[in-house]
Amino acid sequence: MAKLQIRKVGDEALRKVCRPVDAITPRILTLLDDMIETMRAADGVGLAAPQVGILRRIVVIEVEPGQVIELINPKIIAFSGEQDGQEGCLSVPGRLGLVKRPMNVTVRAMNRRGETVDITGHGLLARCFCHELDHLDGALYIDKAYSMDEDE
Ligand code: ZN
Repeated sequence: MAKLQIRKVGDEALRKVCRPVDAITPRILTLLDDMIETMRAADGVGLAAPQVGILRRIVVIEVEPGQVIELINPKIIAFSGEQDGQEGCLSVPGRLGLVKRPMNVTVRAMNRRGETVDITGHGLLARCFCHELDHLDGALYIDKAYSMDEDE
C-alpha cells in the first residue's frame, strides 16, 4: 500500500466530472487500498478518487472505525429528511462550514468484488455519502455551505 498525495482546493482535478469504472482490475483494487491508507493517515472519514488526482468514480468512507465502505460508481437512489451540520474536507484544510444535507441517504454502488450493493446511511454517514459523491462531479462542500469558519 502507498500513501497518496491529497490535492487541495485550487487543483483542477477537484473540479472535473469523473469517469465510471468499467471493470474491477488489480489497479482499481490497489487504488482502493491506497485511498484507505491515505484517508486514515490524514484522519479523514471519507476520500474520493479525484482528491488523489484520479478521475474515477470511486469513494472510500470510514465513519465507524474499522468499518470501511468502498463505493465504485455510486449513485444516490433515495434520500429523505434534512440535517444541518458542520463539514470539513481533506482538500480544504483548516476550514469548516455548515451544510444542509438529507438525514437519510441510500446509495447503490459496486463493491470490490463487482457486486451491486445498496447501503443506507443516517446522520453522519448520510452526510458523508453526499459530500464524497459530490466530489465525483467536481463539487466541493464550500460551494454549498451557508456559513464558513476557520478551524481552530
Ligand atoms: Zn471532501
